[in-house]
Amino acid sequence: MFALMQSTRLESLHLSVDPVTGLKAVIAIHCSRLGPALGGCRYLAYPDDESAVADAARLAQGMSYKAALAGLPQGGGKAVIIRPPHVESRAALFEAFGRCIEQLDGRYITAIDSGTSVADMDCIAQQTQHVTSTSAAGDPSPYAALGVFAGIRSTAMARLGSDNLEGLRVAIQGLGNVGFALAEQLHAAGAELLVSDIDPGKVQLAMEQLGAHPIANDALLSTPCDILAPCGLGAVLTSHSVAQLRCSAVAGSANNQLTNLQVADQLERRGILYAPDYVINAGGLIYVSLKHRGEELSTITAHLSKISSRLTEVFAHAQAEKRSPARVADELAERALYRQA
Ligand code: NAD
Repeated sequence: MFALMQSTRLESLHLSVDPVTGLKAVIAIHCSRLGPALGGCRYLAYPDDESAVADAARLAQGMSYKAALAGLPQGGGKAVIIRPPHVESRAALFEAFGRCIEQLDGRYITAIDSGTSVADMDCIAQQTQHVTSTSAAGDPSPYAALGVFAGIRSTAMARLGSDNLEGLRVAIQGLGNVGFALAEQLHAAGAELLVSDIDPGKVQLAMEQLGAHPIANDALLSTPCDILAPCGLGAVLTSHSVAQLRCSAVAGSANNQLTNLQVADQLERRGILYAPDYVINAGGLIYVSLKHRGEELSTITAHLSKISSRLTEVFAHAQAEKRSPARVADELAERALYRQA
């Protein structure tokens, strides 16, 4: 466990159990040099406890990088609640988790993530104020989509020489909270949409409302297009899938799109511009962070607009140094995190 903490440069790891509710939770605080750690809480089944701890540690590190590059006064953290096979009261379990967060005295702020809902955040809020994305705070997804849309413009500018999206073919994998909102904005900007989702109802809606072209799930990644926007699950960019891509750039909301950094180099060799996921999808974090600090919407949208300039800066460095934007982003984030270290 200490080896994992050292390799991810984790600041602290907090394990909690509550026999009454069945809670088994991990809170990983990666870095609080820039501010209190903020990051979502997953509620998932894991093959073993070690996998849950490793997931929390890896994701907490990603949150530090995302906050640092978004210029937020926030550190990186992540929580994982190991989903029990049976739970008596979900509300009681999340309230127990709220008490664990309260014990950390504001060093970790939680938010919605895979497997958790606004209702779960409301239960946590019964026990602690260190929680965002409650029903009172609102859904970050529209802000994540706004940031990705602006980032797609910057990506088009950098790769295709124009940020005019009229007639651009954008392939979107996943029409969930972020993907559908992004599709609406792209449609309004005149882009041609090629879409897939494992839920046929969402594809149907995109066809009816946005004139989108449906693509089979297993064909989306190899569909010829200008920009591929992964907005479903992570780990879609593998050495195998990258060899199949027929796009000029990849720019989407999904977290952890790359299975490893060698895949980023492979994209670079293929001349496919990659918009680092944690830079382009920072709109959700910007929203929850600033909303939690009581900022006005105008301040939040002003901060969101910095995503495109940050992305443009990453692309410029990458081009000058002939390196993948993913490697450049990691380096910039580490520099921001540890510059006084
Ligand atoms: P969501 O669950 O609402 O949507 C995901 C969609 O992807 C669903 O409609 C699902 O059916 C579809 N999907 C899953 N696997 C697929 C596949 N193989 N092919 C096609 N479709 C598939 O999630 P979301 O909130 O829209 O988030 C989407 C991605 O963006 C996630 O990776 C998330 O971590 C990331 N993200 C979300 C936010 C946010 O504020 N919601 C912020 C930053 C990053």
